[in-house]
Amino acid sequence: MAKRTRLIEGTWNCTSCDTRNIPARHRNCPNCNNPREETGQESEFEFGEEQSVTDEKALSAAAAGADWFCDYCGASNRGDTPLCRHCRAERSSTSRALSAEPDPDAAPPPEPEFPRAPKSSRRWLYLVLLLPCFGGGLFSFWGSRTHGVTGQVVSTEWTRTVQRESFQRVSQTGWRDGLSTTAPRMPVNGQGERPGVENIRDCTRRQRGTRQVADGTERVCEDKTRRVQCGTEEKCTRQKLGNGYMKEVCDDVPKYCDESYEDCHTRTRYRTEPVYDVSCTYDTYAWTDMGPPARASGNDSAPRWPELRVGAVDRLRHEEKYLVRIEYQDGGVKRHELEPRNESEFLSWKKGQSVSLQVSNLGSVSNVTQGEAAR
Ligand SMILES: [Zn+2]
Ligand SMILES: [Zn+2]
Repeated sequence: MAKRTRLIEGTWNCTSCDTRNIPARHRNCPNCNNPREETGQESEFEFGEEQSVTDEKALSAAAAGADWFCDYCGASNRGDTPLCRHCRAERSSTSRALSAEPDPDAAPPPEPEFPRAPKSSRRWLYLVLLLPCFGGGLFSFWGSRTHGVTGQVVSTEWTRTVQRESFQRVSQTGWRDGLSTTAPRMPVNGQGERPGVENIRDCTRRQRGTRQVADGTERVCEDKTRRVQCGTEEKCTRQKLGNGYMKEVCDDVPKYCDESYEDCHTRTRYRTEPVYDVSCTYDTYAWTDMGPPARASGNDSAPRWPELRVGAVDRLRHEEKYLVRIEYQDGGVKRHELEPRNESEFLSWKKGQSVSLQVSNLGSVSNVTQGEAAR
């Protein structure tokens, strides 16, 4: 449908005799003959009834332009008359006029933007979200604060183990594509050995893994929503002409609704299939633990390795562990253990030695430094 334009006549209230809802076409009050003026809101029209006007006189008045007010008597006058109808004074360049609104028919107003959440309520949201973080931050800040205390080394301990390993013949299984017969080589002084592959036998087919195989197609559907036009709706814009009349232009614009639909497509379907390969047993050599490890420990400051005899194809695996126990006063007697990484680090700690520690408010020790020598 095409655009529809109509004129609406406003009403005003007489401030002299209090007559209300006088149609705009009357420039004087029909009751007391007071001319309509700018003062007393007499020229601020109400458009409550929204009755369309079509008669010749109204159309002419609406087309006359914005009203102007006489400098001498204050009466309102048609925009297209040069003389005051009340006192015959001329319209001057200083005569005030009602302002007409821009024509919405000429240039459509910009589309209204989507409403945004007011800033203040967003700020509240941030505050509510941040509060727990802030409290947690304060606590971890307090907990991470450290203070210095003095302590003492109460004991030291070392533990050393030696495991004898021998290069022994063993049976293993492996995938045939990774096996080729090679001769083993025995170690000399615990090194230079090669495991070798010998006597490949008992080969059988076994499952080695799986693979995905295309197996036809399948149809998959998703529920989705889209915007579609669903008829039209009437949209009207109004323009006050500054003379008691209002121009209304209505048009039918497309209306959009959400429509749900199924979005379907076809995709390849896969099935899982086993993959077989040939596995064999073979002989090789490997380092093998021989018996329990020999162990030595002590609280002195002279760590030593346990004695063990070594055969021609043997080697020894050494492991060492050190411990320094510290006691300190921090609202009661507390203990802390250090684990030096090697012998020289271990030997720098002496029983009875005083140390200083940095302890956090949550009780964790962050730093230990050696104080004066043992007393
Ligand atoms: Zn009146
Ligand atoms: Zn006048």
